Amino acid sequence: MNKPKIVVLGSGYGGIITTKKLEKLLKSGEADVTLINKHSYHYITTQLHKTSAGTAQDNKIALPIAELINNEKINFKKATVSSLNFDDKQVLLENDETVEYDYLLVALGFQVETFGIPGIEDHAFKIRSFRSSKAIYHHIENQFSKYQEDHDPARLTFAVAGAGFTGVEMVGELVENLKNLAEKHDVPYEKVQIINIEASPNLLPGFALDAVKYTTELFKTMGVKLMTSTKILECTENYVKVDSGEIATKTLIWSCGVRGHQLFEEAGLETIRGKMKVDKFLRIPNLEDVYCIGDNAHFMVDEKTALPPTAQVAMQQGPVCAENIVATMRGTELKEFEYNHKGSVASISDYYAVGKVGNFVIKGKFAALMKQVVEAKYLFALGGPGLVFKQTLGLNPLGF
Ligand code: FAD
Ligand code: NAD
Repeated sequence: MNKPKIVVLGSGYGGIITTKKLEKLLKSGEADVTLINKHSYHYITTQLHKTSAGTAQDNKIALPIAELINNEKINFKKATVSSLNFDDKQVLLENDETVEYDYLLVALGFQVETFGIPGIEDHAFKIRSFRSSKAIYHHIENQFSKYQEDHDPARLTFAVAGAGFTGVEMVGELVENLKNLAEKHDVPYEKVQIINIEASPNLLPGFALDAVKYTTELFKTMGVKLMTSTKILECTENYVKVDSGEIATKTLIWSCGVRGHQLFEEAGLETIRGKMKVDKFLRIPNLEDVYCIGDNAHFMVDEKTALPPTAQVAMQQGPVCAENIVATMRGTELKEFEYNHKGSVASISDYYAVGKVGNFVIKGKFAALMKQVVEAKYLFALGGPGLVFKQTLGLNPLGF
């Protein structure tokens, strides 16, 4: 009898954690597991703002997938998924290959929401992937070199669109590194301006007021120009148009929100901003051998509330999803997914952070430390103590 084929699409937070759990749950020879991802590395999406600002070494953010999985149990395929054919249970790849599945997990992550605003697609810089984040950093560094040639002040004006968690974290990293870049390129730092543009009346809209106040004050101290109640209407190569006028800049880093993946709509399914509605077992209704988690999934915790697109959600869904795939295969009982919110913390450079854990707002250096602990816990889940030592201290006690 042919072995069941389990196919996992995407090796981000959700995909890799599910795959690692499948490694543990499946008996030898029980199923063929294939993990498909665009790149041969897993990037730590939650730290892409650091790559974008040049504050993290590449090998801390992009980790070879082959070193994270058991290559004897998992067949890894580096390929881009181009379409999904749920009727014939097939995944089509950009290289024209077709992969058949019995059980499928779609965990391809978010796409950037542009709201159709003119020029965002072509001229704004997006923190989407490791590559797109590297492109942001190269562009920023290039502005400093070009400034030496043309002295155009627009080159030294760095605008971040949106002051949600991503925007605030991006601003923090720019504050940390632009001073170094100015020094490296012999440009007076006083000429550099960091602007954060937010449509809502406050940064971190909807977050605890105490955290909002703290971050606003910190931005002031850091010399960041915060423009709240300001909506971006257009972006060109040379300026950003907002409702109060134009800002001359060659750098708009877009962090105004995310949506699900276009592949569902292209497959003819109905989505909610590109996300697939999933049931309490993380399956797509009416396609019960297809699971969907992380930023691709629209999971309702109650009648009114859907879970946000966070790594915390994807990481908690992964193990339940793996258990349910195996249970579906074995014909045993499925487990309901229950989300346990552990708090939210936004870093503002390596030295400050702000967040809320339970009913408590945490801020400053303590919060920054908490954030680093959360990051280390993720590394532990990925590769045990060896990976934590290797990534955080540069030590490699296990010799891999
Ligand atoms: P992802 O982690 O995005 O992984 C998707 C994977 O699919 C990627 O490897 C991608 O290359 C691959 N892929 C995409 N398309 C294709 C294709 N067509 N073919 C093949 N492969 C493909 N959340 C938190 O909880 N805490 C945080 O501190 C936090 N910080 C963040 C900071 C930033 C800068 C950003 C951008 C997000 C942050 N988030 C945070 C949100 C979090 O990163 C996401 O919710 C999380 O990554 C979702 O996991 P995922 O598995 O759904 O997708
Ligand atoms: P978001 O939707 O949370 O924030 C986008 C911000 O952009 C909003 O404040 C919105 O008012 C603003 N905006 C939208 N259109 C605008 C316009 N035209 N002009 C000016 N401002 C505009 O998106 P995000 O910050 O990218 O976060 C996406 C998800 O990732 C969220 O679920 C977030 O919680 C998660 N995340 C978490 C962390 C963390 O936990 N540390 C860090 C980053 C992201």
